[in-house]
Amino acid sequence: MDTLFIVLGVVLVLLIAGGGALLAPRVRRRGRAAPPSRAPGEVGTTTAAPPSTQAPPAGAATPPAEVAAPPPVTESPAAAVPALEKPPPSAGRMVRLRSRLARSQGAVGAALLSLLSSGKLDDQTWDEIEEILITADMGAAPAAHLVERLRTEVKVVGTTDLTEVKSLLRADLLEQVGEEFDRTLHTAPHGDRPSVLLVVGVNGTGKTTTCGKLARVLIGDGCSVLLGAADTFRAAAADQLETWANRVGATVVRADREGADPASVAFEAVSAGTLRGVDSVIVDTAGRLHTKAGLMDELGKIKRVIEKHATVDEVLLVLDATTGQNGLRQARVFAEVVDITGIVLTKLDGTAKGGIVIAVQRELGVPVKLVGLGEGPDDLAPFEPQTFVDALVG
Ligand code: GDP
Repeated sequence: MDTLFIVLGVVLVLLIAGGGALLAPRVRRRGRAAPPSRAPGEVGTTTAAPPSTQAPPAGAATPPAEVAAPPPVTESPAAAVPALEKPPPSAGRMVRLRSRLARSQGAVGAALLSLLSSGKLDDQTWDEIEEILITADMGAAPAAHLVERLRTEVKVVGTTDLTEVKSLLRADLLEQVGEEFDRTLHTAPHGDRPSVLLVVGVNGTGKTTTCGKLARVLIGDGCSVLLGAADTFRAAAADQLETWANRVGATVVRADREGADPASVAFEAVSAGTLRGVDSVIVDTAGRLHTKAGLMDELGKIKRVIEKHATVDEVLLVLDATTGQNGLRQARVFAEVVDITGIVLTKLDGTAKGGIVIAVQRELGVPVKLVGLGEGPDDLAPFEPQTFVDALVG
């Protein structure tokens, strides 16, 4: 009998110990917030918010009362969710990035000034000046126009003084860049509806990076932002947007599988933005330049679907400044497919071909509104013609 009691006791102890071991990981998993479950292809929202303000996701399991103490916390909340960054406001950004602009565009200005200051302003010198402008991707017609005008002015004023010639060149360049364009980014919400910015362009131009940087620009100016990851053909693009969003506390709406309908993600993003009362929704789109008809279908559908319950305030075309004529070709295709309201010229830090600002504006009749001047998070600036020309001429 004694032996029976001993055997039963041992079995009981083993059962209790085994049960505890099985319970332990379950408790740990419950302690972590589980993402809300979604059906395949469904669109989901992720919000980067400090732990204190983050509400438990709908449907997340709450620990039962009998689980006495929560599992030991191995990471401090601060370490798990880094403090939100406070990006600088948009004003004065281009001036701050001026040295970078001067570094990339300075060679053009220096070459022009050296020719102009030679004192020997004959036909050959003027031809060389025109060549420099064409090499800077300004376009043949604007380059010829600028040289002709400068040549007449220099003759009329009768000067070879470098300071005077420089100021004439600056004025002519400024006129070509165009001060009359409205370069305002239309981001003001419409009552209880957010403003919507659609970002289009070929993959590799810096489109997704621009969405992230643009969110920072707007947040730096005191707005709230939601990002829609409608480039559903690259999961990496949505991940990239999430990383940008996490740093500044923006919300991301994304599909949970590659190839989901981009228009439905865009629609959900704008709906979520309206529901949450954010100021602006930025929608990243796929940049596959497959066929013009395909592109037209995709972008047209996205725009139409958004316009069911919001206004598309900006369609921003992202162009890589280093791609020259190829970039201009892309601009032409996109302009035929969708009404572009502004150009974002990226990688201007990596090329001396700043003349593309003039060429692309001429091509599309649409202003450059933003320029990318580096890979840093705050290296996107509202385009200012004066600062640009100053950096060029020195
Ligand atoms: P997407 O395919 O058009 O979405 O391009 P990504 O946003 O993934 O960017 C492609 C690459 O360009 C990345 O390595 C970016 O860091 C880089 N990039 C984007 N904008 C700029 C810029 O203004 N300057 C420089 N130097 N690199 C940039």
